[in-house]
Amino acid sequence: MEVKLTTITPEQLKTPPATMSGVVFGVVFTDHMFCMEWEDGKGWHNAEIKPYAPLMLDPSSMVLHYAQMSFEGLKAYRSDSGEHVLFRPRENFKRMNRTSQRMCLPELDVEEVLVALKQLLRLDSGWVPDEAGTSLYIRPAILATEEAIGLKVSSKYLFFIILSPVGPYYPQGFNPVKIMVSEKYVRGVPGGVGFAKTGGNYAASNLAEKEAKELGYTQVLWLDGVERRYIEEVGAMNIFFVINDEIVTPQLTGSILPGITRMSVLELGKLWGLEVKEIRITIDEVLNGLKEGTVTEVFGAGTAAVITPVGILSYKGEDYLIGSGETGPVATRFYEHLTGIQYGKEKDPFGWVEAI
Ligand SMILES: *Cc1c(COP(=O)(O)O)cnc(C)c1O
Repeated sequence: MEVKLTTITPEQLKTPPATMSGVVFGVVFTDHMFCMEWEDGKGWHNAEIKPYAPLMLDPSSMVLHYAQMSFEGLKAYRSDSGEHVLFRPRENFKRMNRTSQRMCLPELDVEEVLVALKQLLRLDSGWVPDEAGTSLYIRPAILATEEAIGLKVSSKYLFFIILSPVGPYYPQGFNPVKIMVSEKYVRGVPGGVGFAKTGGNYAASNLAEKEAKELGYTQVLWLDGVERRYIEEVGAMNIFFVINDEIVTPQLTGSILPGITRMSVLELGKLWGLEVKEIRITIDEVLNGLKEGTVTEVFGAGTAAVITPVGILSYKGEDYLIGSGETGPVATRFYEHLTGIQYGKEKDPFGWVEAI
C-alpha cells in the first residue's frame, strides 16, 4: 500500500499537554491522521497520512443517517525503557473485519493497516504521554460515505485512524465503581449486532447510562435481551466474577462484545493455573453468591479502562456491596500484570506487545 505523506507545517503544529492530569479521556488529538477511501470496483485507495482536520462529508452521507460503520479502540504505550509499543494490535483489526462483515463494510488488510498505523504513530510519537497509567488511544473507524438517503449498502467508504493522548478512563482511576443492572433496557439480542463495535450499539445505550448516572452509578450492567436474567457485559467493558476462587465471565453468545482484554485475562488466568470459566451466569446466581460470600470480587475488563473493580451492584433498587466494597486481590493482580506487560515492567509470556 502506497501511503501519501502530507505533514503539518511548523505553524500548525500543536503542543501535547504538559501533564495528563486533568485531561478528560478522548478530547485531545494529535497532529496527524491516516485516511483511506474505498469504492465499488476500485477497492481501497487514496491512503494518506495528513494533518488532523475535520472531514468534508455530504449531509446525505449514508453513515449520518443509517449508521453503517465500524470502529476500534487500542492503545500505544511508552514502556519503561522509553520504547513505544502496541498491545495485540492484530486482534483489533481482525475484530474490525468481523464487525465489518456484519455491517456490510469492506474489510481491511490487517498487516497493511498495521504498517500504516505504525507510520502514523512514529510521526506523532511526541504525543505518547509518559506519566504512569497514561497512553495514546488509537481510534480507527470506517464510515459509509455514499451520498444517498436511500436504504441500501453504501458503495463508498472512508477509513481513518485518529490518536488521542489519555489518562484513566474513569476519573476515579483504579478504584471501585458503582454499577446498575439495567432492567428496563437491553443492549444486544441473539442475531443482532451486540458482538460488533458499531456506533448504533452505543447510541442505543445512552439512555440507560444517563438514567444510571442520575442515580449515582458509573455504568450499566446489561442482561440478555430475551430472558433478562443472564449477565452480558458493561457499557465498554466485559465483566468478571471471582466465585469460589474461580474466574468466571459470561460466555460469548453473539450479543457480547468479544473484548481483547477479556481474552487476555482468560489467558493470563490459565497461565497462572487459576480455574477460568466462560459460562452463562444469571444475575440471581451472582446476587445469591454475594449474600453467601461465594462471590468475592467483580471487575470489568476493557482497553479504555483496563481492569476496573466494581464495588457496588444495584438491582431492582437495592445496592449489593461486593466484598468490603474495596478493590480485591484478583482484580489487583490482573491490573498489575496486564499494565506491567503493556509498560514493559513484567515478562510478556505470550508475545502480546510489539514495538512501533
Ligand atoms: C470495546 C468494548 C469492550 C472491551 O473490548 P477490548 O477489546 O478489551 O477493549 C467491551 N465491551 C464493549 C461494549 C466494548 O465496546
